[in-house]
Order: sequence, then C-alpha cells, then structure tokens
Amino acid sequence: MKAPSFDYLKPASLDQVFALLHKHGDSARILAGGQTLLATLNMRLSEPKFLIDIQGVPGLSGISLQEQCVRIGAMTRHGEIEESIVVARHMPLLAMTAPHVAHKAIRNKGTLGGSLAFADPAAEWPSCAVALDAQLVLASRRGLRRVPAADFFQALYTTALAPDEIIVACEFPLQPSGARCSFDEVARRHGDYPTVGLAAVALVAGQRLQQLRLVFLGVGNIPTRARAAESLLEGRSLTPELLAAAKLALAGELAPGADLYNSAPMKLHLAQVLMQRALAQLAAPAGTPGEKQHG
Ligand SMILES: Cc1cc2nc3c(=O)[nH]c(=O)nc-3n(C[C@H](O)[C@H](O)[C@H](O)COP(=O)(O)OP(=O)(O)OC[C@H]3O[C@@H](n4cnc5c(N)ncnc54)[C@H](O)[C@@H]3O)c2cc1C
Repeated sequence: MKAPSFDYLKPASLDQVFALLHKHGDSARILAGGQTLLATLNMRLSEPKFLIDIQGVPGLSGISLQEQCVRIGAMTRHGEIEESIVVARHMPLLAMTAPHVAHKAIRNKGTLGGSLAFADPAAEWPSCAVALDAQLVLASRRGLRRVPAADFFQALYTTALAPDEIIVACEFPLQPSGARCSFDEVARRHGDYPTVGLAAVALVAGQRLQQLRLVFLGVGNIPTRARAAESLLEGRSLTPELLAAAKLALAGELAPGADLYNSAPMKLHLAQVLMQRALAQLAAPAGTPGEKQHG
C-alpha cells in the first residue's frame, strides 16, 4: 500500500514548529525518525494532511549531565543513548535497555521522543521513564511544562500531549548512591517488540530492597507498576518464601491480555520469571556480575 498524500513541512526553529502546530492542529503529525510514522502512513493507519519534519530543528538533540538529572533531547537517537558515556555512567538502566530497542538500523534513526510520544505498550523507553521517575518536557506556543512519566502515559497509544505540543526532552533524575537497576525482556527474536519486559530499580542495603520500582511492559495498555509486589518486597530480605508470595501478588495485580502467540497465563508466567531474575540481579552481592550500580 502507498501512503496517502500529504504536505511536507520542514521548519527551521521551534517557534516555526509551534506556529505550524497551532495552525494545523490535529491534521498535522510530527515526523521525527520516521521509523513508526512512515509505516503507519503506508498502512493507512494514519492520514495526516501535513507532516512537520523536526529533524532540522536546533536544540532537540543531545545528552547532557545536569545538576539533578540526565537530560536527553527528544531527537536523540536510540543508538546515541546506547553509546553514550554519560548514560552508561549515570543512567545504567537506559544503557542496558538500549540494545533491546528494535534492530540496529532502526536504532540509528528512531528517537527517544518518537518512542515516548507513540507510547507503544510494548516499547522499552516508556517503562524505563516510569521506573526512573523521569519528567517529560513538553513545549508549545503556550510555553513549557513538565509531566511526570507516570502521568504522561494515559491509555493505549494515548499520552498527555496536547495537539499543539511536542516533546522537547526527557529528564531522568540522578539516582541516589546505592541505587541499582535491571532490565530484561522476552522477545520472539532479539530486536522485535517484546512479549513482556521489566524495568526495575531499587536502593539496596545488604539483601534488602528499598524504594523498589517494578515497571512491566507488554502486560497492559501503558507501563504497568507492580505496586502490590513492590510493597510486599519493600525493605525485606529476599527469601524463597517472600519470592513465592511476591509472585502471587503479581498474579493478583497483573492482567495481561493474550496476543497472537501467547496466552494470558503464559504472559503472566513470563512476568513472574522476569521479576525473579530482576530481584536476584538487584540483590546480588556487590562486585558480582549481577550488580549494576548507578554512579
Ligand atoms: C521493525 C521495527 C521494530 C521495532 N521494534 C521496536 C522495539 O523493539 N522497541 C521499541 O521501543 N520500538 C521499536 N520500534 C519502534 C522504533 O523504536 C521507533 O523508532 C519509535 O517508536 C518511534 O521513533 P521515531 O523517532 O521513528 O518516531 P516517528 O516514527 O517519526 O514518530 C512516531 C510518532 O511519534 C510522534 N512524535 C515523534 N517525535 C515527537 C516529538 N518530539 N513530540 C511529539 N510527537 C512526536 C509522531 O508524530 C508519530 O505520531 C520498532 C520499529 C520497527 C519498524
């Protein structure tokens, strides 16, 4: 199938982007890396009258270490996150997740902002953003606003973005010392959208996990925090009995839907396996291969 006809617009500044969005509203779409949007056009799942290409707009790309956060511009490619020394040093959850985001060719073009805006329930970055308590920086002619990731993802492919707004950056707060993280997923082939995945962060004292955040992807319409399992595990030593109870709690709070290849019970089982692996990794004694620490 061929894409429907549209007008291609290439603004040179953010002000021009805002003016175009203000003028064309919902009949326009932002074009970032094009890795999702062009496919949806070709399949006629989306028929915008205008495409606003933001690739030439200055100030939307790059990774910087700030006083309180690592700030990543919306137009930063997945591959740049994968290779960033700042990310590896200060936001290891993103560094360990990046190789799972699609295939190398797509990582070279697709952007962080595009992934967050599209809000695919099986995408990796939205769950990482929720696990790290990131803030999305949104901008329009009306000004800037920051929205916590937990409030940004609202429903299936639906976010807090207004029709005249774009994501300009995502700010990931620096994690306290002693914070550890883990990311893992199950996919049919490496680089495909995963069946189920899990981004986990915690403060670790001995074998006890504190401020644990378990954020699943692929088990609901938006990134899904396993709050019952989190509170059961909070501050307690990880024993086989506690792990069994946490798995039961998870079964009580997750309600994954079946997909073409996996039944709902299978997806729940995968979520439980991923949680077990993540907890073992987070609680691994310092210096072992399981340990990944925020710096
Ligand atoms: C074969 C294949 C496999 C893939 N596998 C995975 C995977 O495993 N995991 C994964 O996470 N992703 C996967 N993807 C998607 C990929 O990561 C895309 O790069 C990403 O979802 C969209 O980024 P983009 O920059 O290409 O955005 P685009 O395709 O240009 O845009 C996507 C949507 O976001 C909007 N948008 C883009 N940028 C902004 C912005 N700054 N502000 C507001 N709205 C914006 C656009 O208007 C559009 O609606 C896969 C894609 C393909 C083709």
